[in-house]
Amino acid sequence: MDELIDIFIRMGVISCYMKSRINLGGTPFERLRSRYENTDTKCPDCGYVCDSCSWTSKSDGRRVVYHYVCPSCDADREHVFRLTK
Ligand SMILES: [Zn+2]
Repeated sequence: MDELIDIFIRMGVISCYMKSRINLGGTPFERLRSRYENTDTKCPDCGYVCDSCSWTSKSDGRRVVYHYVCPSCDADREHVFRLTK
């Protein structure tokens, strides 16, 4: 299912996909964020691994920005997904 989300994001139809997911619990945005929280936990700058740190996500309607600040060295990390073609 995560692969499907990636494909939909690249195609720019994530908003349609979101609507279909609303009643199933968990939007693709939330799923992507939880994926980062589960798999992208090691800071590339200092090597600090934080299993319980959470990514923040925000959207301006055209893109979604996932943001994370390392609690050890304060390095900023971002993943940006464009929602429009
Ligand atoms: Zn760090």
